[in-house]
This record gives sequence, C-alpha cells and structure tokens, in this order.
Amino acid sequence: MRIAVVGAGQLARMLALEGWAMGFQFSFLATHDESSVCVDGLGSVIRYQAGTSAAEVYLKLGSPVVITVEKEDVDIDLLKALQQFCPVYPDPSIIHVCQHRGRERDFLNKIGVPCAVYQKVSNVDELSAAIDLIGLPAILKSCVAGYDGLNQWHFEKRADVIKFINTTDLSFQCILERKVSFTREFSIILVRDINGNHLRYPLTQNRHCKGVLLTSKAPVQDFDTRLNSQVDDIIKRFIHAWNYVGILAIECFETDSGVLVNELAPRVHNSGHWTQLGANTSQFQNHLRAITGMVLGATEAWGHAGMINLLGCTAPSAVLCQSNSQVHLYNKNPRPGRKLGHVNLVHYDDRQLTEQMYQILGDVYGDKNDSKRPEIPLQILDKVILSDLKPE
Ligand code: ATP
Ligand code: MG
Repeated sequence: MRIAVVGAGQLARMLALEGWAMGFQFSFLATHDESSVCVDGLGSVIRYQAGTSAAEVYLKLGSPVVITVEKEDVDIDLLKALQQFCPVYPDPSIIHVCQHRGRERDFLNKIGVPCAVYQKVSNVDELSAAIDLIGLPAILKSCVAGYDGLNQWHFEKRADVIKFINTTDLSFQCILERKVSFTREFSIILVRDINGNHLRYPLTQNRHCKGVLLTSKAPVQDFDTRLNSQVDDIIKRFIHAWNYVGILAIECFETDSGVLVNELAPRVHNSGHWTQLGANTSQFQNHLRAITGMVLGATEAWGHAGMINLLGCTAPSAVLCQSNSQVHLYNKNPRPGRKLGHVNLVHYDDRQLTEQMYQILGDVYGDKNDSKRPEIPLQILDKVILSDLKPE
C-alpha cells in the first residue's frame, strides 16, 4: 500500500520511517527547489511542475491509496484535483484555512475559540490604525510563509514601528496581534480517524527560543481544572466544526485569564515528537492509522517525556549513551539554527527528567567559549530557558 506525502522534510521522513515498519510504501511530492535529503532512500520523490495535470501527478506518485501533507504551504487546487483519484487527508479545505493566518483567525473566531486580539493589515495606514487600536507591545505576522518565527516583527515601542515602516515595503497581508503575557505555552495534539473517533495526547508544554521550538515536555504539570475544561471545550469546537482526519496540533498560550489559541498545524507537529518514545503510539503512527482507516492507537504517556530540538548541532556522545534517551537525526546539511534532529527522553520522575533536560541543554548549547558551538542565541537560552528549566 503506497502513501504519498506532500513535502519532503523531516516530518515526511518520520512519517515514512514509521510507515515502513507498518508495511506501507511512500512517495513524496516536492517543489522543484525543495530539498529532499530528509527522505533519501525512503521512496520516490516527484518534482511538481506547474501545468502538470493531477492525473499525471497521481500516476507519477505511484497511484497511492491516500495522500497526506507534512506542511500547510501546499497547492490547494492541486490537492483538490487529486481528490478524484484517492482521499486526501486532512481535507484540502481545512489546510486552506490553516495556511493563511488571517483565514485561520477568522475561523477561530467563527467557532468561538479564544485567541489574542488582532487586526488584519496589508499597508502602512492599516498598520498605524491597528496599532492605535491594539496598542503596544504587538507582533506583526505575515499571513503566509511564516514558520519558526520567520516573517514576524516584534514592536515594543513606537520607534520599532517607525523603523519597520522605513525599512520594509508593507504590501503583503499580515495580522497585527497583541503580545500575550503568557505563563506557559502548550500544545494540544489530537488525532481523529475516518469514522469520527478521536483521541488526544497528554498536553505538551513547549519552550521556544527566538520563535523556534527548543523543548517540549509532557504531560504538562499543574494544569488546573478550569484550564482543562477550556481545553476540552476547544477540542469539542474543532471536532464539531471539521470532518478532520489525521493529527491536528493546536498551539496555545496559558494566561491568567485562560487559554488562548495561537496557531493550528493540520499535520504531525514538532511538539508531538516526544510521542515516539514517550507514548504507546507515536503521533506519526496514529496519523498513518487515521488516514488509512485503521483503528487509532493508545495515546497515553508512559511516564514523563521530554524532547530537545538539535538546532544547528548534533547530540553529544554523552546523550547517545543514555539509557532513557533516543536521538533522531534528519540527514540535513548543518547550518546554524537549523533543525537537524531531536532528542527524546522518558523518565518516571518529572523532576529528574527536568534535571536531565537541563544537563543536555547545557551540554549541547551551554559552552559560550567554544567557537564550534552552534550559533544560537545563548543569552536567551541562559536567561529564559536554562534558568527556567533549572531545578530549584
Ligand atoms: P511555528 O510555525 O514554528 O510554530 P510560527 O513562525 O508560525 O512558528 P508562531 O507560532 O505564531 O509563529 O510564533 C512563534 C512563537 O513566538 C510562539 O510560539 C511564541 O513563543 C511567540 N509568540 C507568537 N505570538 C505571540 C503573541 N501574540 N504573544 C507573545 N508571544 C508570541
Ligand atoms: Mg507556532
């Protein structure tokens, strides 16, 4: 049985690695300039060229039984045209909503899911009006082509806005969003099968460094009943609104006034990587089960799980030797800050897991004097990440 994945990055890689063990074969649809090193050897890579018919693309992909995506920046018309040959999950209309921040926010509003106050802007006048309305600090986010904090501008004071206006030609669609003073970031990882059954993984706490996910831990600790019932309500609204199939990741902020949803990912997600070691069924396996009509696997965590992204670096050998850790590398060429792999950890004790994560972060990113260390913002790591993670 062949499954086609649109995209050829690390998420496609991990879907295929899991899927090969389940007896599936894979093909990948990539754009002409997309790197496919992550899926080398895992299936044929088809380069899409504008003008190629959906029938031809489908044949070149090896007539898959189902098509799925590893990213939301995809050609929706092509996916819709491919639906005449086999199912495409999640439905292209859902991916269409998630690939544009403005549409995504409108959708969240429509189904009554809380998010940060925002305004749509696409020129300087609209930006000024939006700042008057929303106030500062605020974040301007491009509606498309935004990931890992790219194409976002943080405005703390008026001078930042003026500098932005003077240096950037604002002629593209954006949202201006109030900066949220959150206590924690967490994500909801949901999976729904073709019969409408759904399961959720334990909530995952996430730490970002300059807009890029650095660590995840699950299950999130000290989450009170009020927040839990808000999460239940948010899940209900998505399940009710969408005939969703596969993994859906919902990135959230925990604030004093409750949960706010920041972003949706209609696919497997970096904050769900811990499930490869820390849960009975990984997010990759459950996504494949869902889209191929199989029954879903259990989503409970074995204990406490953690994940550390390897940004621009590989894991030190001390980490490779640990009995409760697992290292995944994506076969990418190293570049500062680039996601090259991740480390998963499990532990029966949350405090000891935290200590171990702190130790690994120090090993990987900590030595400021070593010029070979990856160029990630160590100051921020020290201030925000390491000091936060350091056990009392
Ligand atoms: P990714 O796709 O990698 O999740 P992204 O580029 O799509 O990231 P966001 O998820 O919107 O961007 O933002 C990245 C990070 O920036 C968030 O996880 C959060 O840490 C911070 N951030 C985003 N929006 C806000 C906000 N309104 N207030 C405070 N912090 C924010
Ligand atoms: Mg995000």
